[in-house]
Amino acid sequence: MTTAQGTTGDLHGVVEHRLRGIDQRYTAGRRAIIGLLVSAGHPVSIGDIADSLPGLPRSSAYRHLTDLEAAGIVRRVTANDEFTRFELAEDLTEHHHHLLCVSCGKVIDVTLPAGFEQAVTETIGQLADAESFQAHSHRLDVLGVCGACR
Ligand SMILES: [Zn+2]
Ligand SMILES: [Zn+2]
Repeated sequence: MTTAQGTTGDLHGVVEHRLRGIDQRYTAGRRAIIGLLVSAGHPVSIGDIADSLPGLPRSSAYRHLTDLEAAGIVRRVTANDEFTRFELAEDLTEHHHHLLCVSCGKVIDVTLPAGFEQAVTETIGQLADAESFQAHSHRLDVLGVCGACR
C-alpha cells in the first residue's frame, strides 16, 4: 500500500500531529503499530500485531489502536466482531475496497476500475442530493468466502 504522503517520514509527522490534536503522544508502541500497518500493506488483526510485536501486550495494542482510531489515523475493517482488522485511514493511503471472508476473517484490498468508481460516486451524489445529504466518501466491503475456505 502506498501512502499519500510519499515517504514514511512524512506519515509519522502526520500521525504525531493528529495524536497531538486529541492530547495524545506518539509513543514507541504506537510508532511500532504504525510501522507494522505500513509494512504489512494489508489490514492486520490484533493477533498479527501480537505475532509481529511480541514485546507489546495485546491490551496495550488494543488501547493504542482505539486511540489511533479516535485520532482519525486508523480505521476498523470488519466482517463481524470476531474478525476485526485495522488499517491506515484512507486519506493516508488511497481509496480502495475490501473482500472479507466471513469464515476465516481474511481481508483482501481491491481497487475498482476508475469508470465504476465514477459511476458509484455519481449515483451516490444523486441519491444524496435527493435527501439534501452531503456525501463525503463511501465504503463498499464485499462479504463472502476466500479461496482457502471454499
Ligand atoms: Zn477465508
Ligand atoms: Zn470506491
